[in-house]
Amino acid sequence: MNYSHWIKKTILNKQQLKKASHNSQSIQKKKINKEQLLSIRDLYKQQKWQQLITVSKRNRGLFQEYDQIRVQGRDINVGEAVLINSGDNHEDDYIGIIKQIVSIMVPRTNKYICLCNIQWYMRKSEVIKNHPKSNEWVSEQELFKTKHQEYILAQTIINKCNIITCNEYVELNEIESTIYFNRLSWDSEKQKFRGYEILQKFCLCRQPLNPDRKYIQCDSCKEWYHLECVGIIEEKIGNNNYFCQICQ
Ligand SMILES: [Zn+2]
Ligand SMILES: [Zn+2]
Repeated sequence: MNYSHWIKKTILNKQQLKKASHNSQSIQKKKINKEQLLSIRDLYKQQKWQQLITVSKRNRGLFQEYDQIRVQGRDINVGEAVLINSGDNHEDDYIGIIKQIVSIMVPRTNKYICLCNIQWYMRKSEVIKNHPKSNEWVSEQELFKTKHQEYILAQTIINKCNIITCNEYVELNEIESTIYFNRLSWDSEKQKFRGYEILQKFCLCRQPLNPDRKYIQCDSCKEWYHLECVGIIEEKIGNNNYFCQICQ
């Protein structure tokens, strides 16, 4: 996953550089102020959020932290999951949990930059690029927790969403498109799942549960099987007991 997909890279132009060097010739007190002013603006233009926060924290009154943010009339708290605009060329929105909400005042303006620190979650479409076989057991609504955290502009947040456990997800009667579940982590460095070994496996194919697929339970051993794996057509399932190949 390209986490920084929607960040446009801006190149500092020569005029800006000239301006910066000109300002360094003025008197000491003024020089410090102007440099801070310039660096905050430049960091904003270059979208270097982490550095912007470091600089603004050094200046009293520029940096502020919040518990809540309002997006399209809905309050979203720190700790809640959100959908994030992934840019025009990307189909799916990005998903993450808000870890921190901050605002930075741009000196000598009334402008505030609002940033959120996001812990990223990966979607199925991202993990199956590295693990095509996982396509069979990973649900469309499944997310994988990553250790990757990053600041984003608050205005790229689209909406709130929910990340629940796999057990909670299976118990739902109605599934909304903004409800996701998480049971595993994704190790971005090793490009593999963390915790896969301890997941319960089902069926002849010995795969973890995929809530998107249809299963039939053997009335003897109580094991669950994919309909396709035991050659059963859904329409032909009656009220008769089902006994698997092993129990027959
Ligand atoms: Zn199977
Ligand atoms: Zn059986």
